[in-house]
Amino acid sequence: MYRALKGLEEAGLVQRIATLRAWGLVTSPTPGVLAICDDCGAVRSVEAPSLFETLHQRLAAEGFAEARQTIEVHGRCGDCSGAKG
Ligand SMILES: [Zn+2]
Repeated sequence: MYRALKGLEEAGLVQRIATLRAWGLVTSPTPGVLAICDDCGAVRSVEAPSLFETLHQRLAAEGFAEARQTIEVHGRCGDCSGAKG
């Protein structure tokens, strides 16, 4: 199981969700923020190109060459919080 997922990760098809020790489908080719619902477990990728651009600039200023980055945000999804009509 793990080895299969590792292969998919290398193929760019899935990414590991570190804080959940879980895996999620890569739904967007652009870097995104993973919004993870702690209630129902839904994982949603939210595009935030300007955020990643800022992050990249900050890391570059530190001389840090990032290979990949995943930002995970925990909270409650629209369904669970009732925010979505
Ligand atoms: Zn939810």
